[in-house]
Amino acid sequence: MLKDKIQALAKDIHGDVVRHRRHLHANPELSFEEYQTSAYVKSALDELGIEWTAMANTGVVGVIRGDIPSEAVVALRADMDALPIKEANDVPYRSNNEGVMHACGHDVHTSSLLGTAKILQHLKSDFAGTIKLIFQPAEEKLPGGASLMIKEGVLENPKPQAVIGQHVMPLIDAGKIGIRSGKYMASTDELYVTVTGKGGHGAQPQQNIDPVVITAHIIIALQQIVSRFADPKLPTVLSFGKIIANGATNVIPNEVYLEGTFRTLNEEWRAEAHKKMKKMAEGIAESMGANCEFKIVNGYPFLVNEEALTAQVRGFAENYLGKENVEDLDIWMAAEDFAYYSQAADACFYRLGIRNEARGITSSVHTPTFDIDESALATSTGLMAYIALKRLGN
Ligand SMILES: [Zn+2]
Ligand SMILES: [Zn+2]
Repeated sequence: MLKDKIQALAKDIHGDVVRHRRHLHANPELSFEEYQTSAYVKSALDELGIEWTAMANTGVVGVIRGDIPSEAVVALRADMDALPIKEANDVPYRSNNEGVMHACGHDVHTSSLLGTAKILQHLKSDFAGTIKLIFQPAEEKLPGGASLMIKEGVLENPKPQAVIGQHVMPLIDAGKIGIRSGKYMASTDELYVTVTGKGGHGAQPQQNIDPVVITAHIIIALQQIVSRFADPKLPTVLSFGKIIANGATNVIPNEVYLEGTFRTLNEEWRAEAHKKMKKMAEGIAESMGANCEFKIVNGYPFLVNEEALTAQVRGFAENYLGKENVEDLDIWMAAEDFAYYSQAADACFYRLGIRNEARGITSSVHTPTFDIDESALATSTGLMAYIALKRLGN
């Protein structure tokens, strides 16, 4: 049976995948700078006899064609970049690149996809269909490696009918996965706002235009975008995490600077909300004699798991891992550049459990103590190979 074969192979290559993961973890590179990582992936593919092409500078795309003729194509995606975080773990595979750390598990995704590639390459003579292996740069940094890979044609020649990705999740135990059909993650836009008034002595407000009070009005009023304008059935978040009004107890500053984030799950509403926020902030400032510059930097779109594909993937996962090891996920208002694939093709993005509470492996992603239970690397490699081959009709 295909499942037993893959499970046995995943077990056989587990040591290999751990070695890949530890090498990548010890040698993390920032977004768009994944030169060593990219070279490592290329040489690992060469060793497996898998043809590849380079894309988006540090990106790599491998192709495995099953020996049985078929037009079906599935793409599997991993991201390769690390974060500007100083690792606090005392482990043998600790980061050698001071101040840079694989704190989002992209080392896990890349090593897992190399493992999946090894399994698939081994089974090549037995299956029909083509598998594209996407190793992309820069998930953590705008404009996102995925958008560049798509622009450079990663979803063409051959065109995949499905794109599948996985991401570590510290809330789920190793050996399990989480999945959600439909809208799953949010679009995320960055807001940069400057309110300019007229500074002066705090004792003479009548001679100044106080940008601090005006900014306070703007912040409160903008929450009505969420509470009064957004459809209550549609998740919307607006948060300002940075406010700089650099005056003093008795000094009113000339300007106040704000940074925030706007997140939602609908492209039309996203565009409309941008216009409304800008108009409201500029209007309030103007009515109070100040000026407001409201800059929005578009981030990733929302991520949607195509329903038919996701139902299939869930079924394959239940079959491979057992029903009790496939959990339901809630909507999560974080962003992920896999969303670009989901906007361009049928896509499914699921979560890989890596938690082991007994061993104290519980830290969130993007923290200096993030780590994984490496037994998850046997789940990740085999499951993805199984999903790919089943989806290709094997
Ligand atoms: Zn991340
Ligand atoms: Zn990530």
